[in-house]
Parts: sequence; C-alpha cells; structure tokens
Amino acid sequence: MQGSPLHGAAAPGGHVPEARRDRNVSPEYRAGSLKKLLKRCVLCPRMCRVDRAAGKHGFCRLDARMVISSALPHHGEEPPLSGSGGAGTIFFSSCNLKCIYCQNYQISHSPAGRPVTVEELAGIMLDLEARGCHNVEPVTPTPHLAGIMEALEIARERGLRVPFVFNCGGYERQEILRLIDGRVEIYLPDFKYGLEEIGNRCSGVPDYPRRALDSLREMVRQAGDALEIEDGIARRGVLVRHLVLPGMVDNSLTALMLIREVSPFIPLSLMSQYTPIPAVRRHPLLGRRVTKGEYERVVNAALDLGFETLYTQEVDDRALNPDFAREKPFDWESTGGTDDV
Ligand code: SF4
Repeated sequence: MQGSPLHGAAAPGGHVPEARRDRNVSPEYRAGSLKKLLKRCVLCPRMCRVDRAAGKHGFCRLDARMVISSALPHHGEEPPLSGSGGAGTIFFSSCNLKCIYCQNYQISHSPAGRPVTVEELAGIMLDLEARGCHNVEPVTPTPHLAGIMEALEIARERGLRVPFVFNCGGYERQEILRLIDGRVEIYLPDFKYGLEEIGNRCSGVPDYPRRALDSLREMVRQAGDALEIEDGIARRGVLVRHLVLPGMVDNSLTALMLIREVSPFIPLSLMSQYTPIPAVRRHPLLGRRVTKGEYERVVNAALDLGFETLYTQEVDDRALNPDFAREKPFDWESTGGTDDV
C-alpha cells in the first residue's frame, strides 16, 4: 500500500492501552494451544477441521509447515509503517480467503514457496530488524499462526525490539485472536466487505462482515482504537485497510459504517490501487480500475462519518500490485532498493 495521510496520524480521542505483554496466558500455553488446533484446524472461520499435523489440507491447502514467499523491507506501506527503513514484511504463501481479484494472487492462491522452521523464521525477524526495518510484519499470518507465534517468542528472547504487526485479511476468529493477546503491538486488518453477498461472490464466505466486525472489536480491545506514533513510526494500535473495488461503492460505504460502529477513532487506509489480475479481466465489475468519482465518494463518506485519521491514495494509472514472479516483486526494488532475505 502506498498512501499519504489526509489527516494527522494520531487520533486525538483514540485509546491505546498500555503494553501488556506479560498478562494473561503464558507463551508456552499459547504456542501449545495454537499447535493443538492444527490437528483439527479451526484457526480461521473456514473451520476445515482437518489434521494438518498429519499432512492433511483444508481450504488453504497448507499442511503444518510454514511456507514463505519472500521477506523484505517494504517501502510501500502506510508512512508510519514503512518509515525510512521499510516495514519488515514477510509474505507467507497461501491464504484462508483467496479473493478472486487478489492483488497478491501469485502467492495467496498457492501453497508453493520456501518452507521455514520456527528457528529460521525467528532469524528472519531478527535480520529484518538488523537491516533497519521498523517492525516485523507477517502478511496473511493466520494459517501459519502456531509457528509464527513460537518464532516471535524466540526472536523476542534474542532481543527483537520492533513492533509485531499482524497484517491480515480481516476474516479471523475472535477466539484465536484472544490467544495472541499481549503479543501483537499493531493490528493491520483489511475490512474488505460490508455486504455479505459481495464477500460471498468475491471470497466465497457468507459471513465476512460479521467475522470482520467481531475480529476488529477484539483487536481494538487488545491494542486500542488509535495508532500510537513516535518520531513518525507506528508503535502500537490498529490501522484498518479497505480496498475500494470497482462498481461496488455500496459495499465500501457499508464497510465504513460497520467500522464506525466500533470507533470513529480507528485510523483508516482507503486504497484506490485496485488493478484487475488476469483471472478477472473479463469480469463485468472487477475488470477495470476504480474511477476517481468512486474513490472520492468513499473518502467523502469516511469524512462524513467522522473518521479522524485517513490515509488516502491518488487515483491514477500506475499498477501498484507486486509481481512475485520477479526476483524483486516491487517497483521500488528495481530502482536500487532492497534485497530479499
Ligand atoms: S487455516 Fe486453513 S485449514 Fe485451517 S480452518 Fe482456515 S482454511 Fe481451513
């Protein structure tokens, strides 16, 4: 995501609770509970109930191994996440949503990639911090959560200091989020759909709005409804992303109203960068970019609803989606940027 703040970055009335890393359940209990869930996987609302520990696959087509596509300093996230050193982004393979238009479809629709152990992943987190990243940010962490949380504990014990960012599709289970309470500094969920039928059509889930709303409430309970920023860098809190889809402004407006039910102080990142992928080029709605008029309707609605902090994008012809078939998936990398881990 590349964007610019429309308003001040810290929401004045927002609430960021104190860090509470040591409260509630122990890390061992947490890791053990998440691991046990792999034997009858209910990590996400798909509730496949397959034994991934025995090599069986559910909707995400992942067994118990963690698989990553790449890990790199990401300079295209929202400014308080990317800062000058980049977000420490770790792209995990496959996804529990698999939206038909996914901008990362090359990795989200396939379980292919590099399997990593818990130890290796802890090393990758520490390496990203050593390279100057302002956080570690696993993308689509949910199906890999057991290993990620174990790796995070190891990395913390070895001195990892930067915030842990949970960058997810918003289709989460409250019960699972409670198991990671106190371990996540920043929640970065999508809120993709306000309308159930759009979630069903685009991601094959009938209950996206309800799940996303429940998840967001839990995220806000844990991390607050603002984004705490020091020296331009996000330290704690929640930032919600919404990708405006072509011909679906009503979906966006309903999503905004649902987010507003939780709090108007939640910082919102409204993205205009949607670009049709090959699979939907002939789709009657998804086959084109978003127009300036559509995007402005959504931004104006957010302002009318009283959202205090908005990150917005230009509506232009640039294609901002990455190409994971390239050695360097993002454009800034080909202009002398960064190396993959
Ligand atoms: S994480 Fe994968 S296997 Fe587990 S419930 Fe979700 S889609 Fe199914």
